[in-house]
Order: sequence, then C-alpha cells, then structure tokens
Amino acid sequence: MHGLMMNRPLLISDLIEHAARLYPENEVVSRHIESGIVRHSYLQLARRSRQLAQALTDYGVIAGDRIATLAWNTHRHMEAYYAISGVGAIIHTINPRLFPEQIRYMINHATDRLLLVDCSFLPLVLSLLPELPSVEQIIVLTDAAHMPPDSNFLCYETWIAAFHHQFHWPRFSDAEASALCYTSGTTGNPKGVLYSHYSVLLHAMAACRTDALGITPHTCLLPVVPMFHVCAWGTPYAAAMMGARLVLPGAALDGASLYELIVAEQVDLLLGVPTIWLTLLNYLREHQLQLKNVSRVVVGGSAAPLSMIREFAEVHQSYVIHAWGMTELSPLGTINLPTPALQSMAPALRYQHQLKQGRPVFGIELQIFDEHLRPLPHDGKTFGVLHVRGPWVAQRYFRHEDLSAFANGWFNTGDIATIDADETMQIVDRDKDVIKSGGEWISSIELENAAMSFPGILEACVVGIPHPRWAERPLMLIVSPTGNTDLSALRDHLAERVARWWLPDSIVTVPELPHSATGKLSKVTLRNQYRQFYSQSPDTGAAP
Ligand code: ADP
Repeated sequence: MHGLMMNRPLLISDLIEHAARLYPENEVVSRHIESGIVRHSYLQLARRSRQLAQALTDYGVIAGDRIATLAWNTHRHMEAYYAISGVGAIIHTINPRLFPEQIRYMINHATDRLLLVDCSFLPLVLSLLPELPSVEQIIVLTDAAHMPPDSNFLCYETWIAAFHHQFHWPRFSDAEASALCYTSGTTGNPKGVLYSHYSVLLHAMAACRTDALGITPHTCLLPVVPMFHVCAWGTPYAAAMMGARLVLPGAALDGASLYELIVAEQVDLLLGVPTIWLTLLNYLREHQLQLKNVSRVVVGGSAAPLSMIREFAEVHQSYVIHAWGMTELSPLGTINLPTPALQSMAPALRYQHQLKQGRPVFGIELQIFDEHLRPLPHDGKTFGVLHVRGPWVAQRYFRHEDLSAFANGWFNTGDIATIDADETMQIVDRDKDVIKSGGEWISSIELENAAMSFPGILEACVVGIPHPRWAERPLMLIVSPTGNTDLSALRDHLAERVARWWLPDSIVTVPELPHSATGKLSKVTLRNQYRQFYSQSPDTGAAP
C-alpha cells in the first residue's frame, strides 16, 4: 500500500525561490573576475536566475540538454546553477585545470550545446573550439565593457538584460538529471557523474544539518572549493536552502586575497582542500596575521595534516572539521564533528582524533571489504576497501558501460580505510597509492602526516617506487622553504612515529610538488618521474 502523501518533486528551482521569499535581503557576495566585489541579495539573485532561464528557453534549450560552464566561483556561475537545472537542462561544470585534451573529451562526450565561460578561460576555449562540433554558442560571463572585441560570442549581461525576471519554473520529476561533473580520472578518460534534482536536494538537506556542516541563516561561508568541482561541495544549494550568507572568491585564490575577503566579510565557515589552506596559513604566518571570526574550517579532498589542524587551532582558534567525500558522493560521505567529548580532550589527543575522516552522515552507509568482497570488522585496525551506498551516491557513470565499481549494490570508492567500533572512518590510502612492500602495506598518508609534523616542512609526499627486492619501497619528497632540513633528525622523528620498516629508503628535498586538477598531490607524476630511483640500488631499504 502506498502512503497517502503529496508527491511534490524536490526541484533545484525551489531552493532559490525559497531563499528569495524567506531571506530576500541575505547576500551572496562575489569577487568579480575583472575586479571588485559585487553583492546581490537572494531576491536579486533569484530574479537574475529567472532572466537567464528566460534567455535559455528563448534560445531553444530544452529538458535534458547539456549546457557547460568554465567558470570560477561567482554569482554568475551560481545563477547558471539555478537557471540551467531550473529549466530542466543539465549544467555540466568543467574543471579548467584539467588537460585541454580532457576538456575536449568531456565536452564532446557530454555533447554540450552552449558554453558559459569566464573571460579568463576564453583563450583555452578558442583553442579547442574547432574540435567541439556540438557547441553552438559561447556566452561570456561578463558585461559589455569587458567583452573581447570583434567576437561572435554573446555577452552574458547584455543577453539576460533583454529578458524579464518573471518566469514560471517548469515542474517535472525530481529523478531528472540536474548537473554533470566528471572525475579527474588519473588513468583513462574522465568519468561523468550525473546528479539528479532529488540527489542534490537530499544532499543539501544533509549538508545543512547540525550533524554535518551545520549551516544556518546566520552562517557566513566561503567555499574555496571550486564550483567546477563537485558543485563546490554542494554549498551553492545548501546556502540558499538556509539563506546563509555566501562569499564567492572568484579567481583570486592567493593567501592575500582570501585573507582580505575573510576579514572584510566576517566569514565564519571555510571549506576547501588542504593545498589551499597551506597557502593561506603560509601567508598568515609570513605576515603575522590572525583570523578573527573563522570558527570552523572544513577540510576534505585529501587528508588534513596534523600540523594544519594544530595551527588553525592554536594560532587562529579555528576548529578543523575533517570530512571525506568524492565526486560520486555529491560529495559528502563522512564528517569528523567537534563533539563535547572531543572538545574537552587534551589538545594533542584531540588533534590525533581529528586526523580521522569521521562518521557517515545520515543517508550514507559505509562498509569495508576484503578482496573477496567479505565484510571486515569495524575494529579500527583492519584495513579494507571502502564501499558506500546512499541516495546521493552514483549508481553508474554517464554514457559509460563499465559497472565494475558498482557491484553488489555498493559503490567501490577505491580507498583503503579502517572503521572504528563507533563507525569513525579513517582513510589509510588510495588503493593505487598504498605502498606494497614485501607483501605488507605501508600508508603513504600516515608517513606524510608524520613528516609534516616536523618543523620547517611545508609539504610532504610519499610514493611507492619499484624495488628489485621488496616489490616497492617508499620514497619521501619534502618541500622546505628554508631548504636546510636536517634529514637525519627528520628520520629520527619519523622513527618515533611509524614502524621501522615503513621508513622511506630515501628522502629528497624538492622546490615544489605537483598537484592534480583537484588540488591533490599528483602521485602518478612522481611515480613516473622517480620510477628508476631504487633500481640502481637494490640493497637499500629496511627489511619488511
Ligand atoms: P578526483 O578523483 O576527481 O580528484 P574526488 O574529489 O572525487 O575527485 O576525489 C575523491 C578522493 O579524494 C577520495 O576517494 C579519497 O581518496 C580522496 N579524499 C577525499 N577526502 C579525503 C580526506 N579527507 N582524506 C583523505 N583522502 C580524501
């Protein structure tokens, strides 16, 4: 027997209308790509989104069309989020940091009809355009004064100005697709994750809850995580749901610009990947500055190092909330919340706990399995391949036949993790990054963390390098701004924190480390670069 409740679909257009009705004056603050700060109330943003929706409809965009964006975090990008999904089309957010061949592949794979592009990405788009047969029109996300001369492109502001802000959003099933985001795909072509209206709204509700990001109408949040990567972790939706003040940093992601924005707008919740916070902390340290209002910093995408957790706490009185997720999870999976028990712990103990990626939010189930897909115990010690399931987890990839990651009703994340008895999860490594030495596993993340707690080390990366005797041995690469790290003292420091056979056979100081398009350490690049490193010296390395 069915329940007797209304079957009202959960649609993305409802979010912006809700924000406009309930929080008409609350602001979305955005740094222009050209220059300066611009403020829009949710009422204005809803009107502009409706104008864009009219423009798209007038152009002939229909339900299911893919409309791509190559854009930073700005109010115009946010309007595109609402207008494109709102008319029933699919917003395909493209990560401009990917290789041009990958961008070409994604646009052609998705058969995007229109491209909405920030001025800064026009040269890239122009170089690809002859090979993008599905693209009919480029719309430049700027005003008439900043349009490139002599182009056939549409100017966003001029285009939408021709349309009225009254628009009736169409109603349709919330199972319809709303947004498309490709994973960066370190091997092979990127794979598309196709979100629905239903999954986006449930994810936004989950994100706002106090057992997740705890967003309220009084929160002021700054997502430094880009809107071209997993929809800025869903924050443009969650913020509108609560009418929270949203601060969008545009293209200026350097320490000075972020600091200026955080102070000027009194931001209290920051969200981003560790590399961004390394840059910001570095800047603050160099200029002896302190953050005043930031109470929480949500860190995800890569493991948050202990030194970062400590520095935010002790210098800036900001609590690092470690979270874990993936493009395939929209992205929220687990979160390590500041419970009263944790907050009353001695700081050193608490920092250790904050290194874990936390407990699943309601809606997400976790399980670790062995290689025969047998479930493993949640004892905090046993490693297994992490699988997840839930209403905002992908069930397959867009236009992709391979279902190997989706066996048994679970999604195989490709991460290796432990789960404690209280369901707290800790990522040990990515399956492809864990170092397999003499039949045993070494966690590159744990070694990196140990190294980064040594004074003067800005960033550390550990990769498994082929070794004639032990199959693989760890190689550590460190970035130290002073360039004079005492390597033997570093070795002693590591030896106090990890098993002897985990110690890297070599430690190399480098000026900088490569990062992927989503801000993660690019371990593939380093493995290739240092592939031969141990083949000349077969007898080095501690016995496993
Ligand atoms: P991409 O592969 O495109 O960079 P994702 O952002 O989807 O995209 O990457 C998800 C992966 O990032 C996870 O599978 C995990 O390996 C890693 N990850 C995410 N959050 C964390 C975290 N807090 N700690 C360690 N690794 C993380």
